[in-house]
Amino acid sequence: MRYSILSVLGQALKGQKDWKPVWRDAEPKPAYDVIIVGGGGHGLATAYYLAKEHDIRNVAVVEKGWIGGGNVGRNTTIIRSNYLLPGNIPFYEKSMKLWEGLEQDINYNAMISQRGILNLYHSDGQRDAYVRRGNAMRLHGVDAELLDREGVRKMYPFLNFDNARFPIHGGLLHRRGGTVRHDAVAWGYARAADQRGVDIIQNCEVTGIRVENGRVLGVETERGFIGANKVGLAAAGNSSRVAAMAGLKLPIESQVLQAFVSEGLKPLIPGVITFGAGHFYISQSDKGGLVFGGDLDGYNSYAQRGNLPVVEDVCEGGMALMPAIGRLRVLRGWGGIMDMSMDGSPIIDKTPVDGLYLNCGWCYGGFKATPASGFCFAHTIARDEPHELNAAYRLDRFRTGRLIDEKGVGAQPNLH
Ligand SMILES: Cc1cc2nc3c(=O)[nH]c(=O)nc-3n(C[C@H](O)[C@H](O)[C@H](O)COP(=O)(O)OP(=O)(O)OC[C@H]3O[C@@H](n4cnc5c(N)ncnc54)[C@H](O)[C@@H]3O)c2cc1C
Repeated sequence: MRYSILSVLGQALKGQKDWKPVWRDAEPKPAYDVIIVGGGGHGLATAYYLAKEHDIRNVAVVEKGWIGGGNVGRNTTIIRSNYLLPGNIPFYEKSMKLWEGLEQDINYNAMISQRGILNLYHSDGQRDAYVRRGNAMRLHGVDAELLDREGVRKMYPFLNFDNARFPIHGGLLHRRGGTVRHDAVAWGYARAADQRGVDIIQNCEVTGIRVENGRVLGVETERGFIGANKVGLAAAGNSSRVAAMAGLKLPIESQVLQAFVSEGLKPLIPGVITFGAGHFYISQSDKGGLVFGGDLDGYNSYAQRGNLPVVEDVCEGGMALMPAIGRLRVLRGWGGIMDMSMDGSPIIDKTPVDGLYLNCGWCYGGFKATPASGFCFAHTIARDEPHELNAAYRLDRFRTGRLIDEKGVGAQPNLH
């Protein structure tokens, strides 16, 4: 069923009774050409681009829970391509370009909203770092504008300019950044992949990976063995556990990241703002709630919930930046499991096991990468070699020392 203005009108006349399920509830077949482990944004996008770009349609996405239950439905919906390093900028800019055409491509309203993202700076040194970043972005064809204090005040007059502990000196504005409705991305890619023949198998945990003579043969699941020529792992926060089933030890730590949403307000914050003197960022959802978050909880965990000290820390950051939010009531908070890599950049690569491929290490920022990650992972699986855009995201870079240390904090995952 194609969605269009005519289908919406037609359904309205029929009392909304004829809508079809968005994807089939597939039963596992005995074997597939490709199995993707993990039905998050990255797994679903990979399946979609395998079918669309490489005509590989005998594909299953095997998900232990429900579609949208992982980080793809838990993030704070921010997309951007304001990176600094050569390995990262072209990849994230490809993602931005794919976002820009995604709704037409998959025929699904993902509420993509390029409302702009502003990174604030609070010192001369931080300004110089943003000048460098902005120049690197512009050299790669990405938009970037440096605002001074008055430029920021014009956009966001309610920020704390006058009595702040960390006075705002200006900001780096990336107008094409913004937000996307996160779970619609999962549903849209699931539907588009399903329409191209991909089986989406929910409530089916992968419990083992069968490997013989160095080659993958398929996956053990709660519903029995499913054979495959190739297996792609896209399990985000559970990557280390899933890869361990094939005997791989990953340079990844799993840590909790929380986010929060307030009661609904009339339109207040037109774009996304990040505080430069602490880890705090905020935007407003189309429903009116302020959506905000901050740092990791700071310990390793597989629990999808966090603890109170970080709630306090995040709210302190918010109060320092924008004291007016002190009068708001927080409606909900939640946590997700982050696959923190040692240099803060992702891994999209082959593994030492033939036919087994790896996609992980997304840290705080994998939602914005969803389209390019799926596009490049599909290429890597189909062609058995990386796309030029993920050539730097190698698994062995931690051994060879070719780190992509965007934040410059070294092998310290809790600092990324
Ligand atoms: C609070 C929070 C805020 C964030 N904010 C942003 C943001 O604003 N912008 C941004 O770019 N990124 C953000 N992120 C990061 C982003 O959400 C993740 O990096 C990204 O979603 C990870 O990829 P995914 O969608 O494929 O993950 P997931 O949706 O987590 O997909 C992985 C799937 O694998 C499944 N799985 C695991 N083990 C198995 C198994 N054994 N068998 C079968 N299935 C299995 C899981 O159930 C899960 O559904 C945020 C994350 C959190 C938690």
